[in-house]
Amino acid sequence: MDTQILTGKEVAKSIRKELKGRIATLKERGVTPGLAAVLVGDDPASATYVRGKVAACDKLGLYSRVIKKDVSLSQDELVDIVRSLNEDPQIHGILVQSPVPPQIDEHAVTVTILPEKDVDGFHPYNVGMMLIGRGDLLPCTPHGILRLMEFYEIDPAGQEVVIVGRSSIVGKPLAAMLLRKGPMGNATVTVAHSRTANLAEITCRADILVAAIGKPEVIKADMVKEGAVVIDVGVNRVEDSSNEKGYRLVGDVEVAGCMGKAAKITPVPGGVGPMTIAMLMANTVTAAERAIK
Ligand code: NDP
Repeated sequence: MDTQILTGKEVAKSIRKELKGRIATLKERGVTPGLAAVLVGDDPASATYVRGKVAACDKLGLYSRVIKKDVSLSQDELVDIVRSLNEDPQIHGILVQSPVPPQIDEHAVTVTILPEKDVDGFHPYNVGMMLIGRGDLLPCTPHGILRLMEFYEIDPAGQEVVIVGRSSIVGKPLAAMLLRKGPMGNATVTVAHSRTANLAEITCRADILVAAIGKPEVIKADMVKEGAVVIDVGVNRVEDSSNEKGYRLVGDVEVAGCMGKAAKITPVPGGVGPMTIAMLMANTVTAAERAIK
């Protein structure tokens, strides 16, 4: 079987195209959608993610602001920064790049962000709205996965979907979205995690297998059903002295082994990653549209 590679770059491009019209309309009304990213500490991967988000804003003509703070920043100081961004009319979307240092309670920061500026879709208000199928600021990665599937005409209705990973930013919201009664929903969903017994038995049932584990190449070819669609969310740095950076990026799936067995698979990098950023841009535009309503 030929395995089709599902590149997110193509889909992200089509989303950007769609956003350009909405951004032009906003600009005609004197509004430039603005995104603020707060980066605490000097984690190199986080800095790379933030740079990617700023570059995406630049590409679309959105306003962006990075607030970079030392790793010693206190919880109160971070909350104050978020509060001032809540008040700032130039800013329609706020994100605090994860992970934050241990002295900071991430949840307390998330709930400080105004729900209408919560472009990550992590605020409990937006999570609740998503759960009842009424949200319009959906978490970027799961929403991006659905848009990627839609683009490649992968309809989850009636399909057995197995998601490995139960985080609040990927696994759980994706499960909720796939369960919705409506377009890109109606799937039969199983969520597995580190305490799941007989993981391979469960993953082998999947028509659509999503790996959001955060460990390199945990999903081997013998854990994948012949003809399955495999969505690899993981982004892991593994040492590679042959690469000038000293590392390379791999997913949670051993892609090479799945070639010829899976029907479709997302690459790492270039699969889910560009979708996450595209949906962040889409949420920022949505937040700006709402702000002038
Ligand atoms: P978390 O660490 O929050 O969650 C990982 C999940 O995987 C947990 O539910 C954990 O189980 C489960 N898990 C860990 N080890 C195993 C195992 N051996 N077998 C089965 N389940 C296991 O990660 P995130 O959800 O935040 O991210 C997952 C990956 O996706 C990471 O690599 C991250 O970098 C990447 N990511 C990529 C994005 C993109 O845009 N491409 C965006 C967001 C994340 P338990 O709950 O029991 O601990």
